Amino acid sequence: MLLLLLSQWLTTSEIKRLTGARVYENKVVYRGKVARYVHDNAVKYGGNIFPLEKRWKGKKLYVRADQLAPILLHMGGKWFWDSEKKRFFKGKPNIRFVMGRTSDGDKYVVTVKAASPNFKVKEDPDSIVIDVKGLYGKFWRIVGDGNFVSIVKVIQKRKSTRFVVHLGPGANGYKVSRDGNTLRVVISKLTPKKASRVTVVIDPGHGGRDAGAVGNGYKEKDINLAVALKVARILRSKGYRVILTRTKDEYVSLYARARMANRSGAHLFVSIHCNASRDRNASGMETYFLSESRTSQERAVAILENSAIKYDIGYVQPDEPVGAIIGDLLQNLLLEQSYNLALSIHRAALKMALTRDRGVRQAGFYVLKWVMMPSVLVELGFITNRKEAKKLASPSYQRRLARAIASGIERYIKQQGGK
Ligand SMILES: [Zn+2]
Repeated sequence: MLLLLLSQWLTTSEIKRLTGARVYENKVVYRGKVARYVHDNAVKYGGNIFPLEKRWKGKKLYVRADQLAPILLHMGGKWFWDSEKKRFFKGKPNIRFVMGRTSDGDKYVVTVKAASPNFKVKEDPDSIVIDVKGLYGKFWRIVGDGNFVSIVKVIQKRKSTRFVVHLGPGANGYKVSRDGNTLRVVISKLTPKKASRVTVVIDPGHGGRDAGAVGNGYKEKDINLAVALKVARILRSKGYRVILTRTKDEYVSLYARARMANRSGAHLFVSIHCNASRDRNASGMETYFLSESRTSQERAVAILENSAIKYDIGYVQPDEPVGAIIGDLLQNLLLEQSYNLALSIHRAALKMALTRDRGVRQAGFYVLKWVMMPSVLVELGFITNRKEAKKLASPSYQRRLARAIASGIERYIKQQGGK
């Protein structure tokens, strides 16, 4: 609780007292204007979708003040959130941030115009950190084109603004130049390894020292790999480009899997897993797409799958920029596509009458949070159920599962207008 109070999480009554804005479970009301929740963690106002995470603690509803401030600014307020001092302050934006593709589409330009020429820039291979005096306040995160720039994180302080520009999977490199009060970052394109073909990442869950769920003498990692290899074979035979995050029994961190996917410029990501339950009778297939879990059972599955993180050395915390950023990108923009992909795979499996229908569900998987494309996680069945575990381990059943998953993927690609 103390942690919540010291951080950017504020109760709705604190927010009302400090800013006059009223935040409800389903909307934000400010100056007679309304921003409505469109997803679990995002509101829509004036054609923009803003992340606005909320959390119940007992009877109190908490929301992220740093995310709320830019929304209030759009609704006619003057509120900024000081991410250092953790408090609201009033101000006037005086920084312009613009980005876009050059007319030939070959380059992408990020322009920051400030009141003063005092830029501080840190250049990293995957990101550019720009510190500048003045206030921006307009957005907490700016979504890029998904190719050159994945996302820009904006950290607002009392007197300065930090922009963290994260390069996308299509960026090759960049050059920073300054001209008085204007700073420009010109990002060049990745040489076209970029797929003209539809590219699918198949991600066999776990591997190596991380066995995943274990039950009835079977290890999840082995079943995941066997099915994934079969899915890949089918998709390749249909002309799709397939990237497997592992092809043998080896350990690959969740972050490395996501990065592999992001770097490849793939169009969709399917992670393959087996479920486990204390209830030995639990059986059936579930297809997940990313979001905060809504039921305790969904949360249990997310915890189970996320526990692979403990094997990761040097993994990126979900609270660190990359994890959090991609999470928001996905939640705000790719959620619907991910849902459609999940539905398509799930329907194909049901049509083949493979398994008991446990539905399409939402949960917060790290691996899905980090990929910047429509992504789902398929739980093939329960390794803890004796009958189902035996089935899952049999090559003929694995082939049927693989066919169902591949046909669901293909149906989705065709829906999206792919070949
Ligand atoms: Zn798993």
